[in-house]
Amino acid sequence: MQLRCYRCGWSFAINKDEIAFALAALEGSQGNHYDVRCPRCRQANRVALEQLRRAVPRSAEPAPAPIEEQRPTEGSKDDPPASEP
Ligand SMILES: [Zn+2]
Repeated sequence: MQLRCYRCGWSFAINKDEIAFALAALEGSQGNHYDVRCPRCRQANRVALEQLRRAVPRSAEPAPAPIEEQRPTEGSKDDPPASEP
């Protein structure tokens, strides 16, 4: 997620882990914004909860199913009959 510091204009990004952490923290504190510190000037930039939510894929959505190849069955289905002594 790309952010821009309103104080110094520095563009920086926060990764998914940070966003997830911010969302978890906000859920616990019932807050509606998260302070992200600018790596350049340490200014706390407010990021709205909505922005954070939009930046991460929703966990409620089902993940796209991986495409499985139809493989021909390997090995022998028909086991040789066990020869009893
Ligand atoms: Zn800054």
